[in-house]
Amino acid sequence: MADRRLLMIPGPIELEPDVLARLGEKTRSHLDPTFIDAFGRALGRVREVFLAGKDAQPFVIAGSGTLAMDMAVANVIEPGDAAVVVDTGWFSERMADILARWGADVTRVTAPVGDAPSLEAVEAAIKKARPKVVTITHVDTSTGVRAPVEPLARIAREHGALVIVDGVCSIGGEELRQDAWGVDLALTGSQKALGVPPGLAVLVASARAMQAFRARKSRVASMYLDFGQWLPVMEAYEARKPYYFATPAVNLVAALDTSLAKIAAEGVEARFARHAKMAGAFRAAWKAMELRLLPVRDELAANTLSAVWYPEGVDASLVGKIGAEGAVVAGGLHPEAKTKYFRVGHMGAIAPNDVVAVVGAVERALAAAGVSRSGLSAASAALR
Ligand code: PMP
Repeated sequence: MADRRLLMIPGPIELEPDVLARLGEKTRSHLDPTFIDAFGRALGRVREVFLAGKDAQPFVIAGSGTLAMDMAVANVIEPGDAAVVVDTGWFSERMADILARWGADVTRVTAPVGDAPSLEAVEAAIKKARPKVVTITHVDTSTGVRAPVEPLARIAREHGALVIVDGVCSIGGEELRQDAWGVDLALTGSQKALGVPPGLAVLVASARAMQAFRARKSRVASMYLDFGQWLPVMEAYEARKPYYFATPAVNLVAALDTSLAKIAAEGVEARFARHAKMAGAFRAAWKAMELRLLPVRDELAANTLSAVWYPEGVDASLVGKIGAEGAVVAGGLHPEAKTKYFRVGHMGAIAPNDVVAVVGAVERALAAAGVSRSGLSAASAALR
């Protein structure tokens, strides 16, 4: 019997059949005209999904989201540059680590688990550190906290800093307006809200970010991460010409082309609204089930995943029980609370059927753990 369990972790996610079918098509030469066309089209659509400026430069390279983080930092940071990290969880700390590895002098602005630092605290840190770069994790997947990118980016820009947004758990699902919000480097991985298998790092650099890259005094110490190596590749393919630096992941790029076409057909605004609606239905269900979220205020709760505390008397074995009931969900990740919560991804093609199936699986798993709660009718009501 086919595996009918839903993959509801915060990436990789359930994929659309035509994306998978495209992935399984014959592997083409990276110089094949049909591949050149697909790559060129995909790059243009990446700019649209990120709501980036026309003069912004997309990069799509083989690697995961972490590679995109590394690439963003490697190209604009030189040893001794100051950086401020808006720290909303484990992935923000990964960004701090990456910055430190590239020689940055890092200031983290922290908050308790489930919260985000205040705008005032971030501004005070920026005034003190005078950073070249401010980094924001749009949705920290370890806590389900969504940071207020727009005002944070505005503050960073007012103080002359470049803004890097880790949108790995947001782009394609959460509202992010790279150009309008003044984000210089926005990045994600293919396996999340873009709806493609893992394996592509996707990054868009604003014109300002490219200027900062060009103004470097030293060259980027990693060849693979160097914008200078990839820029001619991306420019050539977008102009429907081939160019070789390192072999592109041709099947994944083709699958990305299919997924981005679907996103374009849905429309990014409609996609944001659908994610918000599905997340709202999940939140209604968690509330009805008296399950608390990690984010301490409603406006901090992401639309791409729910991070939910286990109720009294329930432990991490709930994750396996939910899986046995048909929904593969994830355990906790934040080192301070790892064993105390679980996470449900709700991004990509997420639809009412998925919400109802997952809430039902959580209900039954809780019942098996001796806790009788019901969230299905609240979810249904929210979906009406
Ligand atoms: N940042 C965030 C916010 C993430 O959710 C993840 C993946 N969970 C990453 C970075 C790292 O991405 P990857 O696992 O694709 O390297």
